[in-house]
Amino acid sequence: MVLLLDKTPDLSATSAPLVMGRPTLAGLDRARLKVALAAAGVPEKQLRMRVNQLWSWMYVRGVTSFDAMTDVAKDVRRDLAAAYSLDRPEIVAEQVSVDGTRKWLLRLQKLGHEARAPEVEAVYIPESDRGTLCISSQVGCTLNCSFCHTGTQRLVRNLEVHEIVGQILVARDRIGDWPGATPPGDGRLLPVTDRKITNIVLMGMGEPLYNFDNVRDAVEVAADGEALSVSKRRITLSTSGVVPEIARWGTESGSMLAISLHATRNDLRDVLVPINRKYPIADLMAACRTYPGVSNARRITFEYVMLKGVNDSLADAKSLVQLLKGIPAKINLIPFNPWPGTQYECSEWEQIERFAEVVNRAGYASPVRTPRGRDILAACGQLKSESVKLRASERPGADAAAHPAPSES
Ligand code: SAH
Ligand code: SF4
Repeated sequence: MVLLLDKTPDLSATSAPLVMGRPTLAGLDRARLKVALAAAGVPEKQLRMRVNQLWSWMYVRGVTSFDAMTDVAKDVRRDLAAAYSLDRPEIVAEQVSVDGTRKWLLRLQKLGHEARAPEVEAVYIPESDRGTLCISSQVGCTLNCSFCHTGTQRLVRNLEVHEIVGQILVARDRIGDWPGATPPGDGRLLPVTDRKITNIVLMGMGEPLYNFDNVRDAVEVAADGEALSVSKRRITLSTSGVVPEIARWGTESGSMLAISLHATRNDLRDVLVPINRKYPIADLMAACRTYPGVSNARRITFEYVMLKGVNDSLADAKSLVQLLKGIPAKINLIPFNPWPGTQYECSEWEQIERFAEVVNRAGYASPVRTPRGRDILAACGQLKSESVKLRASERPGADAAAHPAPSES
């Protein structure tokens, strides 16, 4: 069944959900951190200073213990340690691809009503001149794009702010991206840049615009020059096309925007990206044309997954070019990443090249995104967390062997 919800259901009873165990401060935005410090007894007149101190320890230095915060008074450190932790999401599994791509399966802290701790995935993709971290915004997804592995997993819940930021903290811990930290191995396959995470994309599990407020507040922490310092020009939110929220995102956050287009006709997009039935292509294009801040210097990226015999004809390429006329756009052709049980195949390489040529001739640089981390199912749309694999394995007669290595190299 396809759920077309304007908002994902708010499953938490309060805005500060009850977590099981000592809650963590790591990953909180300033407002939530202030509330947490006040609750631990930090006097009102000290709050601003303490927030600033913790901010820098947590997000510039990446410390994981209150003891390390040497300019914070000892009694305050003690009170904080009694009430809180600085835990990141727990790493259940780490996989490193032959191309240096790293995928983490992360277990979140259980909220009060949850029977078991939900899990999400984050992926780090190093290139020579940049390192891109792909993070999740929801556990599962309410939308059922037919070519997406995540779409086969039902929505468990929205991620909290600290769980979104926590994925960045985990990645920086694991690749040694804090001042004075040692990178793993000999640092081979990491970018030559000073900072190893130069870009962040909200292209993991979930539809980020259905978790608008938490994603917005997490992006503020990521972009804050006194915190994680990844500029908004290097943070990209990818949406399947939640039209009413696109303008609001531009106004309230203003990160770069990517649109999962994948088809240029409503009848096909209705099948591939079913939210199209609610917000058809014309409405989506109108929202792109008026996206706040859009310009030739700040183009919108249109993602187009190459599906053999489905959307990859040269006529499709021409209508893609036609559709994007007048919009400052980049086009990303994404070779389809197969997953167990999918009905789709990736287009032939020659067809992708022919398609790209039409797009290039129309004046778009359209790099075909080389699939990364395919050997560890870390590529776009292959993310799906263990919680579902367990459910699948619980079904009578189901094949319990999830995530087998795909057959192609
Ligand atoms: N929900 C958001 C962001 C996460 S999906 C969105 O849909 O935009 C990130 C990107 O991966 C989207 O463009 C999505 O369409 C694409 N994608 C999903 N499954 C894929 C697959 N199997 N192969 C290639 N790209 C895929
Ligand atoms: Fe959800 Fe995006 Fe996958 Fe569609 S492509 S099911 S919106 S994660």
